[in-house]
Amino acid sequence: AIPLVVAISTAISAQNGLLIRNRTAFEESRKISALLFDKTGTLTKGDFGVTRIESVDNAYSKDEILRLSSALEQSSEHPIAVGIIKKVKEENVTVPKPENFNAITGKGVEADVEGKKVKVVSPGYLRDEKISIPEDAYSDAAETVVFVLIDGTLSGYIALADEIRPESFEAIQVFKKNKIKVLMATGDNEKTAKAVSDKLGLDGYYSEVLPHQKVEIVTELQGKKEFVAMTGDGVNDAPALAQADVGIAVGSGTDVAAETADIILVNSNPQDIASLILFGKATFKKMI
Ligand code: ADP
Ligand code: MG
Repeated sequence: AIPLVVAISTAISAQNGLLIRNRTAFEESRKISALLFDKTGTLTKGDFGVTRIESVDNAYSKDEILRLSSALEQSSEHPIAVGIIKKVKEENVTVPKPENFNAITGKGVEADVEGKKVKVVSPGYLRDEKISIPEDAYSDAAETVVFVLIDGTLSGYIALADEIRPESFEAIQVFKKNKIKVLMATGDNEKTAKAVSDKLGLDGYYSEVLPHQKVEIVTELQGKKEFVAMTGDGVNDAPALAQADVGIAVGSGTDVAAETADIILVNSNPQDIASLILFGKATFKKMI
């Protein structure tokens, strides 16, 4: 006979955008007391559009900032890169060929372009390198900003905007009603993280999080007796997904994340997690 849990979990998977890889994860989803979400592509749409391109000190024009950056971003799959390439296509920019492309984990990308060392990086990278962030970079708190370094000098920046998914608001109401803490961990900057957290009314957030720090966040929450579910989409998230009590890989996330996760959230929709938890609670209450 097919165990009841399998039958039920198969039924709810079919109705919702969930693939349940680990049978006990479904049973245990009713115990979740803290949910740690990633931001981009899960709580938000992950569909970035370029809102501003600025030149710093005018050594390079805005067009040059975009053109040189595009050489790096065409080799990246990050949603920021996708947003920049969308802009490049709109403007019919001819993208130069990069050499020695390298992704700087959790911080950005770098390559040699036309003999110049170009980097497109996070504000955290600038801080590490003791390069000051231009005052006007964050004129809109909700924007994500990446900085363009050419031969070691800050030469410009690109601001991008993403939107919160409407479904996130509804899902968070369900979690709150069920006394589940909702937290967010993002590699994005503090201002953007706070803007998203405030709009959604989250219980807390962690910004400029490097991949290895996600494991520490999960462990710390578990130390406070929380039963932790975490969402993640990248290779970098795999260790934290494994550490979480319920690891949830989102969307068309990388195979590594999916292989480590207990559950795969096909549509990256937080409401599907709300359904899972409510269904789990209702089902196992009846069985006991
Ligand atoms: P998240 O998944 O939360 O965005 P990541 O670790 O993927 O976290 O990225 C952290 C930060 O590193 C981004 O917010 C951005 O500032 C920078 N970054 C990562 N990849 C790129 C890229 N391809 N182009 C520019 N910046 C990037
Ligand atoms: Mg990521």
